[in-house]
Amino acid sequence: MSKAVLIIYTGGTIGMVQDPTTGSLKPFNFENIASAVPEISEFKFRIDHYTLPEIIDSSDINPDSWRTMCDIIIENYDKYHGFVILHGTDTMAYSASALSFMLQNLTKPIIFTGSQLPIGHIRTDGRENLLAAIQIAGAEENGKPVVSEVCIFFGHRLLRGNRTNKLNAERFDAFQSPNFPALAEVGIHITYNKPLIRHITPTGPITADCRYDNNIVILKLFPGIKNEIIASVLETKGLRGVILESYGSGNAPSNNEFLTIINNAVKRGIVIYNVTQCVGGYVEMGRYATSNSLLNIGVIGGYDITTEAAVCKLMCLAGRYENPDEIKKHLIYNLRGEIS
Ligand code: ASP
Repeated sequence: MSKAVLIIYTGGTIGMVQDPTTGSLKPFNFENIASAVPEISEFKFRIDHYTLPEIIDSSDINPDSWRTMCDIIIENYDKYHGFVILHGTDTMAYSASALSFMLQNLTKPIIFTGSQLPIGHIRTDGRENLLAAIQIAGAEENGKPVVSEVCIFFGHRLLRGNRTNKLNAERFDAFQSPNFPALAEVGIHITYNKPLIRHITPTGPITADCRYDNNIVILKLFPGIKNEIIASVLETKGLRGVILESYGSGNAPSNNEFLTIINNAVKRGIVIYNVTQCVGGYVEMGRYATSNSLLNIGVIGGYDITTEAAVCKLMCLAGRYENPDEIKKHLIYNLRGEIS
């Protein structure tokens, strides 16, 4: 079978056009993209496309959209060398993280990309992003894909998807990977950082475990946050997990009332996952007395995980395991290269 790459179009700015009445950008069809980038036909391999039943602004993405993306990948897995997912930038880091956790035995590239300016715009970044993403999705060495994980390509860099966050709403290099180097840099050449690219030995065919439980919340600490409000969030009916966005290396207030609220939540079986508000660096509970108490209560440290990856990891694990201890056990593991 000849080599081919499948583009899955979900929406986002890359394909948007201006609504003549409101002036706002809204998603448009794939033909709009294809006709603006005729170079697509110059690749030496076949490029097919699949448009999601509803093309959306990525602010409307939800876990069911991730299931749809996984289904399309699995259905087409054997027919394609790699996949490019065109997606809005706003939630791209979440979708790339979610797919990394949901897909099992992945040995092919899944490259998310999009743009800051629509493809029809004279200065669009969409052309470069799309063409490079296709080239990376089709790259092979010794008959094997060069990249075999879920990535984001944006603004000249290929990043591990579950290490990224959207950094800038204006600049073309919209994504960063604060705690893990780029997997490739695109200039005149595409320079892969091969030792860092994740290759697994599959234990079976590609599958997806798309179970999730979104009874979770992100709780970002700030000086002056009221204990009553924290208590009321943690007492939400059905709540199973909390991403606690703490300070620095995982520090939180040391007052008894706060610690009792956290302790009671842990005793009720709520998983508390401690991630840092810092862009770079990692949670090291016990380094300061203010985080030692959290450690003793049974809060789980997220090390250097991004909030986006933490949300997806916790949702997936809560969907797979009833028992909070099982969730905690798996949270600590490095499942897909999301922690160092
Ligand atoms: N609102 C858009 C989206 O995320 C932004 C973008 O694509 O850059 O769908």
